[in-house]
Amino acid sequence: MRRNTSDTKTITVGAPRMDIVRYLNTLLAIDSIEDVSRNGLQVEGTEKVHRVGLAVDACLASYKAAAAHDCQMLIVHHGLIWGGLPYLTGAVYRQVKFLIENSLNLYAAHLPLDLHPEHGNNARLAKAIGMENPLPFGTYHGIAIGIEGMVTPERSVEALSHALAEAIDVTPLSLPFGKKLCRRIAVVSGSASEIIGEAIEKGVDCFITGEPKHTHYHLAQEAGLNVIYGGHYHSETLGVKALGEVLEQEFGIESVFLDIPTTV
Ligand SMILES: [Zn+2]
Repeated sequence: MRRNTSDTKTITVGAPRMDIVRYLNTLLAIDSIEDVSRNGLQVEGTEKVHRVGLAVDACLASYKAAAAHDCQMLIVHHGLIWGGLPYLTGAVYRQVKFLIENSLNLYAAHLPLDLHPEHGNNARLAKAIGMENPLPFGTYHGIAIGIEGMVTPERSVEALSHALAEAIDVTPLSLPFGKKLCRRIAVVSGSASEIIGEAIEKGVDCFITGEPKHTHYHLAQEAGLNVIYGGHYHSETLGVKALGEVLEQEFGIESVFLDIPTTV
């Protein structure tokens, strides 16, 4: 996989767009969970794909980066279409116009990419901090989208934050209100701070999620729970990167991670 600093072009045989779409739909069991995101191919582009771009967010910046890197398909975690498109005006119009004018396929995988047991955001985060014996955690729409498990030996919040920083290139925010050493850890990427209640109820030693929520400060403090926030954007970078690796192996095409961080 390339970083978005490279502009070297290599010609690959390429793969039909719909072969990639069908493969991803099956791999991710794309309809397995109720989701506001319209998962799957959201905007149709060119039929042959030689290179896929991987980004967290559908936005003009990621589309322009994908086009500049000669990608024919962009795979994102946060897509353009959520529930439906009521009007093709303003920012939505400009995004759709760019995608169509550049024949860029846009594929979105939201919750199915959070919960995938091997390539998902949470599976990859758990692996990055050395979690063992992973179990489902974090119920959302009736399905566990996160993971809980053990780390051996026990690790401090500082050590866990360091491992997270190494894995996703972020300076985590921590609320060290619990045990000095943590063994049982729960991970739910993105905007999942609401799942703190389940973390307290199940008695985990540390809850790792993405985006902080102000009101959960006192909740964590009063419950004596350690919480680490790795940022919404950064906590959801590993899943799309994993899909790039899978598509390179499966179809012999190239992938490039388009790093467009938000400060959230
Ligand atoms: Zn998200």
